[in-house]
Amino acid sequence: MIYTIPDYYREFRCVAEQCQDTCCAGWEIVVDKKSLKKYRKVKGSYRKMMLRSVNWLRGTFRQSKDKRCSFLKENNLCEMYMVLGRESLCRTCRLYPRHIEEFEGIREISLSISCPEAARLLLSKSEKTTFLSVEKEGEEEFPDFDLLLYSELADARDVIIKILQNRDLPVAVRTKLILGLAHDMQGRVNRGELFSCGELFERYQGEGARRFVESKIMEEIEDIQKRYEKAAALFGKLYELELLREDWDKSLKEAEERLYWRGAGAYTSLREAFETWVREKGNTWEVQKEQLLVYFIFTYFCGAVYDGKVYAKALFSVTNVFLMEEILMARWAKNGGQLDSEDIEEIVYRYSREIEHSDKNLEKLL
Ligand code: SF4
Repeated sequence: MIYTIPDYYREFRCVAEQCQDTCCAGWEIVVDKKSLKKYRKVKGSYRKMMLRSVNWLRGTFRQSKDKRCSFLKENNLCEMYMVLGRESLCRTCRLYPRHIEEFEGIREISLSISCPEAARLLLSKSEKTTFLSVEKEGEEEFPDFDLLLYSELADARDVIIKILQNRDLPVAVRTKLILGLAHDMQGRVNRGELFSCGELFERYQGEGARRFVESKIMEEIEDIQKRYEKAAALFGKLYELELLREDWDKSLKEAEERLYWRGAGAYTSLREAFETWVREKGNTWEVQKEQLLVYFIFTYFCGAVYDGKVYAKALFSVTNVFLMEEILMARWAKNGGQLDSEDIEEIVYRYSREIEHSDKNLEKLL
């Protein structure tokens, strides 16, 4: 089995009670069967607490009214961990924020940016992200796994990441290039023409594709009204999603008001002012956008082997970063033209919590 991780993976340390949030509130924690069996056998003075705190029918930990896990103490430490030790934790709690994608003979592990500390690690990284692979004993059967499609997707992903990390180009150009590539690859997948994907990978790394994409971007920037309407409509999709945290809705409304309520002209001026500020601040946000795009592409793109939705995976990655930027722009305006790293980390991890930790939301956005 080959295991692949991003290069910053091993730097992660949970900061526990120092964390600005907690991963033990806001969502229902699903307990694996092995842990449930273990919890049923707990004896002594903790047995009562255990029986009371697990929803045995649903196989989850019970929550308080404000959606905090029953085991979570006031100081945001886990009581079960403190009383029964680390080994008592269920698989979800032991793994988080690690996210695992599985393919035949391959396990890809990322750090979910819904954890503030993982988000901080990713966003504070200025060098290009690389990925490390190690081979370990053990294989798992994946009946009907489409190895040919997977290998084309893995090749495409390498090219996409290479394009995304080409710092000679603005992120907007890199983004449009990868969408074009994924779009054209989707056509080949639909027509069963996987053999010709190599030509596509070459084309999207060439001069011609870059010039074409740049001219398209110029057209879009000039059509102020259309750009504004597209942004507002896309933002509006966020309200159609399942809400994990009540205060997220309030943040969205606040951002929407600042961004879109004053029409296309005001939106364009705000965007231009924000982009100027990003440039003047040394383009840190451009590098962070690159890291986020690489994160989403690494995590989701090859999953197209299971549903054939190649273009949707790329569009999903780009949309997430676009919407994060919109919310960030609103925060920048609210702060009187300023943003600090805490603002960016907060928006990134809260956005990720709402989108990446709800199967319904993932499915809907995809
Ligand atoms: S969200 Fe991350 S840093 Fe915070 S408690 Fe959970 S794992 Fe630790």
